[in-house]
Amino acid sequence: GMPPLPPPVLAPRRKTRQIKVGSVGVGSDSPISVQSMTTTPTTDINGTLQQIAELTASGCDIVRVACPSQDDADALPIIAKKSQIPVIADIHFQPKYVFAAIEAGCAAVRVNPGNIRKFDDQVKQIAQAAKDHGTSIRIGVNAGSLEPGIMKKYGKATPEALVESAVWEASLFEEHGFHDFKISVKHNDPVIMVAAYEMLAEQGDWPLHLGVTEAGPAFQGTIKSATAFGALLAKGIGDTIRVSLSAPPVEEIKVGNQILQSLNLRPRKLEIVSCPSCGRAQVDVYKLAEEVTAGLEGMEVPLRVAVMGCVVNGPGEAREADLGVASGNGKGQIFVKGEVIKTVPEDQIVETLIEEAMKIAEQMESD
Ligand code: SF4
Repeated sequence: GMPPLPPPVLAPRRKTRQIKVGSVGVGSDSPISVQSMTTTPTTDINGTLQQIAELTASGCDIVRVACPSQDDADALPIIAKKSQIPVIADIHFQPKYVFAAIEAGCAAVRVNPGNIRKFDDQVKQIAQAAKDHGTSIRIGVNAGSLEPGIMKKYGKATPEALVESAVWEASLFEEHGFHDFKISVKHNDPVIMVAAYEMLAEQGDWPLHLGVTEAGPAFQGTIKSATAFGALLAKGIGDTIRVSLSAPPVEEIKVGNQILQSLNLRPRKLEIVSCPSCGRAQVDVYKLAEEVTAGLEGMEVPLRVAVMGCVVNGPGEAREADLGVASGNGKGQIFVKGEVIKTVPEDQIVETLIEEAMKIAEQMESD
């Protein structure tokens, strides 16, 4: 039959130049990638590689590692070589580590021009080294570390200040014939951040790395990132994303992936359609939804599972999903592709759903 239509998106991607971060394309011809950063000391090579493996398994496309000292720089060659996904070295302050990271075989280097002393004088050599090694760059402007001249001019990190810094650094690289870079202009306030990226997107065809910096603990950071990224992605702005949370990096990847999946910018995998419950609920919907989510964690197929507390919307939603349950009277009607296949007692709902999900997943994988 006809291949299914791709799911609708809110806006076409903004057209950008294309760069490579190792094997991962970044720019409008490539799917939006999801990044995180390791929290292990980079000198702990095994610990860092272990964390990178966990991030890779959770759907991370690109990983960044900090490089604050020579010992960290010395660890980069092995990490870059053994990581399953491209590694970006994150450099503040010391230009010598930029060169070390490039020579170590890192896929890209993030530079913060506001923090690197005499950065502008060294752009030429950085551009040359990066070109020689096929390394791309991120110009990572950050509200907390704008260069003194710009801070003096604007008084604080306004969108204009962030963008002026970024555009200036971009022009330096371009003057030296180097174009393989992306840009970020991070701020901890989603409103300022969104305004800055919108302004930046108007001024050049650079691929953009989205981030709300210091977004906070998981709950607040998730919402700040989702609203800010959502506002930009809804206009087609953003080519790679990093959710910053004061939480383990795997959580950042889960949130990043969920944001992209919600906007149809990445294929949806498991989706739980569960009701919020209300006074009509005849089962503990929270518990049921949580147990089903836990039981199906890691599912790689696009399965929609409806978990509904009563018969008001229950059968309707359960019928629309691949699989679902509509509860009532201490029992659950189990639906598969719109048909009630059985009715089970409440204490068997979870196991039955998981069992049926596995059957459908097997079926989907063999199709
Ligand atoms: Fe309430 Fe039923 Fe709707 Fe759930 S499905 S929110 S229990 S009416």
